[in-house]
Amino acid sequence: PLQTTKSIWHNGNLIPWENANIHVMSHVVHYGSSIFEGIRAYTQPGAAGIFRLPEHMQRFRDSGHIYRMPLGFTVDELSQAVIDVVEANGVAPCYIRPIAFRGYGEIGVNPLKSPVEVYVANFPWGKYVPGNEGANVCISSWNRLAPNTMPTLAKAGSNYMNSQLIRMEAEINGYDEGIGLDVNGLVSEGSGENLFLVRGGVLYTPGLGSSVLNGITRSSILTLAKDLGIDVVEAPIPREFIYIADEAFFTGTAAEVTHLRSVDRILIGDGTMGPVTTAIHDEFFAIVNGKKADRHNWLTPVKVK
Ligand code: PMP
Repeated sequence: PLQTTKSIWHNGNLIPWENANIHVMSHVVHYGSSIFEGIRAYTQPGAAGIFRLPEHMQRFRDSGHIYRMPLGFTVDELSQAVIDVVEANGVAPCYIRPIAFRGYGEIGVNPLKSPVEVYVANFPWGKYVPGNEGANVCISSWNRLAPNTMPTLAKAGSNYMNSQLIRMEAEINGYDEGIGLDVNGLVSEGSGENLFLVRGGVLYTPGLGSSVLNGITRSSILTLAKDLGIDVVEAPIPREFIYIADEAFFTGTAAEVTHLRSVDRILIGDGTMGPVTTAIHDEFFAIVNGKKADRHNWLTPVKVK
């Protein structure tokens, strides 16, 4: 169940959680006209910081731009909104959910006459303690969104109907998650995570042309890989390359860095977290947990008492 907090930010003001309601005839309810973000705030010894806040707010605006949905707030203003709501609620570590949608106005498909509503909510979300087990995943029978149908670089609510199909099928069949292939049958991503593979010490991930979200954890992991001297290849990846990878892992705000134990019940390596994944995983958590210096300025400080 959703853990509530005191306040939600709405179009420039903090309002009580229980007042953040919409009408059933709002455009978004019928046609999926929403865009959103998912962000984590981590705690460090004596401090708290929001992970890559301006980058998330830039992607939020980019999603709106693609859908001709002006948010009416700059990246700085949106970043401040997030800081305000986190500080008002005094909750960290937490998950932060900015969302914008076409609200109550017209009921025709064209969204342009319905008002844009922008909200930011947050709720407590403790530190993820990664098990050593790893995820057992499958290749989905559902493909990811085809190019020039639903734009995957927009983090739009409607894209998650595809994610829901992938995730439901995976769980019903006893897997933790599904990997979607693109319409050409090449590797794309998980229902809510980007995918990385390791073979011969080289790190591989599909490029932005493979129907993926431009994940902010993905971009952070690419940066850390370069820092660690790991060669990175962003390229189209055939399905069978997954099975012969030495290591595989998901990245995402929720998933952080989660290694894959098996894909379609084929063990990846020996099923344990391999050395390249471990190096990247440990570097990521050292930074967000304040055990190493935040050398890329990824954390925006917040005061949560
Ligand atoms: N792909 C999809 C479909 C997602 O929903 C997410 C989670 N936002 C990701 C990838 C990972 O993106 P990020 O690292 O920005 O959370």
